[in-house]
Amino acid sequence: DPRIAKIASSIRVIPDFPKPGIMFQDITTLLLDTEAFKDTIALFVERYKDKDISVVAGVEARGFIFGPPIALAIGAKFVPMRKPKKLPGKVISEEYSLEYGTDKIEMHVGAVEPGERAIIIDDLIATGGTLAAAIRLLERVGVKIVECACVIELPELKGKDKLGETPLFVLVSSA
Ligand code: 5GP
Repeated sequence: DPRIAKIASSIRVIPDFPKPGIMFQDITTLLLDTEAFKDTIALFVERYKDKDISVVAGVEARGFIFGPPIALAIGAKFVPMRKPKKLPGKVISEEYSLEYGTDKIEMHVGAVEPGERAIIIDDLIATGGTLAAAIRLLERVGVKIVECACVIELPELKGKDKLGETPLFVLVSSA
């Protein structure tokens, strides 16, 4: 698809952010490119419309940028999966390991019903720990995860292997 190359080239790489040795994939430049942003959303919408998906779950923070326009276009609800202590209502949470220590994501109780079909959206998959936790959280409440979707994959980190049976769809693979 000719749109992919334009999307890939709209992503800026910033070396040594947030710490030395990390090549940070900065999607804010994709958002400045109206065509690249529109095409990014369109590619996901083309893939997920007519797939009977009722939930688009977006992972904080950049899943909150890409998820809502996809949800609106396919007629699904948007469910934010947030960092701890941000959601005001009753939550369920799922822990995952980081390089040092652990983190958590949380979702409101009652946001989804057992039997619903969901996609999970984030900007980027690195080690896959975040998306794996999002999958566990939604599966605990009986939701079927049709697929995880990301703009960017860092394939060297083999994050896909952490997702088990759940398929992963990405637009751009980055060396
Ligand atoms: P993982 O859990 O797969 O190791 O890390 C993925 C999470 O970290 C995502 O929520 C993603 O937003 C963030 N992340 C890690 N590295 C990068 C990066 O280079 N660029 C961006 N935009 N996000 C990153």
